Amino acid sequence: MALALARKYRPKSFADVAVQSHVAATLKGAIARNRVAHGYLLCGPRGVGKTTLARVLAMALNCERRGDAALDGEPCGVCASCTRIWSGASSLDVVEIDAASNRGVDDARELRERAMYAPSGDERYKVYIVDEAHMLTREAWNALLKILEEPPPRVVFVFATTEPQKIGQMAAPVLSRLQRFDFKRIGPADIRARLDRVLAAEGVTHGEDALAMIARAADGSMRDALSLTDQVLSMGDGTLTAERVREALGLVPEDEFLALLDLLAARAAGDVFAFVARLVDAGIDFGQFLTGLADMIRAQLAVTLGGAPPGVSDRVREALTQRAKAFAAGDLLRMLTAITELEPRFRKSGQQQLLLEALLVRFALIDHTVSLEAMLRGMGGGGATVTDAPVPRRAAPADASGSRSASPPAADAPATDWRSVVRDADRRAAERGDAAPLLLEEEAPETLPKHRGATLPPGPPIPDVSHVVERWDALVAALRGNGKTMAATALASASPIAVTGRGEITIGLDEPNAIYEKALDAQKGEIAELLQTAFAGVTRVTVRPAEGKASAPVRLTDEMVRTERLTAMRRKDPVLDRAIEVLDLDLAD
Ligand SMILES: [Zn+2]
Repeated sequence: MALALARKYRPKSFADVAVQSHVAATLKGAIARNRVAHGYLLCGPRGVGKTTLARVLAMALNCERRGDAALDGEPCGVCASCTRIWSGASSLDVVEIDAASNRGVDDARELRERAMYAPSGDERYKVYIVDEAHMLTREAWNALLKILEEPPPRVVFVFATTEPQKIGQMAAPVLSRLQRFDFKRIGPADIRARLDRVLAAEGVTHGEDALAMIARAADGSMRDALSLTDQVLSMGDGTLTAERVREALGLVPEDEFLALLDLLAARAAGDVFAFVARLVDAGIDFGQFLTGLADMIRAQLAVTLGGAPPGVSDRVREALTQRAKAFAAGDLLRMLTAITELEPRFRKSGQQQLLLEALLVRFALIDHTVSLEAMLRGMGGGGATVTDAPVPRRAAPADASGSRSASPPAADAPATDWRSVVRDADRRAAERGDAAPLLLEEEAPETLPKHRGATLPPGPPIPDVSHVVERWDALVAALRGNGKTMAATALASASPIAVTGRGEITIGLDEPNAIYEKALDAQKGEIAELLQTAFAGVTRVTVRPAEGKASAPVRLTDEMVRTERLTAMRRKDPVLDRAIEVLDLDLAD
């Protein structure tokens, strides 16, 4: 295949640009009704068809059959002019400028001078397509503004940009003279559908899982999807298999993930280090590994819950089905959460290997969930299985081993050792300036049960503030356990200020923070309920804004970003969402 797919299958008409039909239809209509503007601004992520659509517009404006009612604003796609513009051959009337490489005053001047030239024929339009327009200098924009204020006849400017806000800052007056269109990010389903058509036209056989993999890697960019496909096809005999895609993308082989799952199921924490060393030897990117691991764990979770994971090969589905009993759904959820939690700082960290090792060791040692699940089953009334792990309703502030249950494969001896290894690794990471908190937190305070409807351990009747302070961490954990992640985070940044004789507790934020304040206020009822179970005399909770500066907008913390991502993840992933609902698990644990 000599011609790159992206080029060979570049759309020739507005109708071809199906994904951006909202823009294509408007432009087509403008041409059919002869109401073309002098300037357009096409905004959107890379690879979604901005330049492509600009070219179709140029074709339509200059098509030899323009005005043909049958075409209804579309370019014919076959006349000499259409062909020339489509193929990117030099055309007097279509000028493409990459602003990233032409940003100076001279270029602006040249642009202006060239714009003064009329199109090459009476019926023709001169179309300037300026890519990466946000890279233009102020001088260039000033020159362009003059043109746009008094546009020469039959000259059209099309600006394409991934960052319209930069143009807004630099050249607001220009924006008001442009018609703006926002392009959509292209979803995996649309990408798969397009690849499917292209490959059919090429006579290339392919597996659905291979397409899914490419669609995901392309991350919303059709151009990337097509060039990835090119890359894979250039490597082999013209078939597109998942294995080959994996290889071309430098993805971690599925078998590595399966091997890791086995290692975790066997609680072989000590093998983690050899495993990671193997990844290092293979030159595998840790960030990509983490993403792939999350995908695999999510797939395992789906299988464990009796569902069918999307975008997974039959072979892997089968392998996961064999492992369905090796993990409790809660364990898998916790792993997913831990990965999501780690990701933001993982990307920035210079200690990725250390962080990854510590994470995997922690996975191998997960040991609280079985009792938690047994408890949930017991509460849910579904189960005959409560007996296998009796859990106190009012969790005694027990020694950790008491609440731990007989978890799947035995091997308790090495656990203690590895725990200290991880703590040690965490400490070292912290010392080396991995800004974030420790990876292995001390075991969550077990003084509070982690699910909705449970009660706090009994405390003295009417507290003074210091009593409440003593219980603060447990309160935060309980709120978090009830799924009120944001409020829990806010609560951790707040303190009890006063308790009135009527049992009214006032909470104050340590620092002004409008978002936290709102989160606390929204959950004050629940906070009061939780407090009531510990301190019978508590009647209500009020939130007092912090004093000092007015509550200004605050910088997003990692925690807030994480909460957002989890919410997004749940929205995107019905299996995960249902699992959280059903098990009512603590996602931010
Ligand atoms: Zn034509």
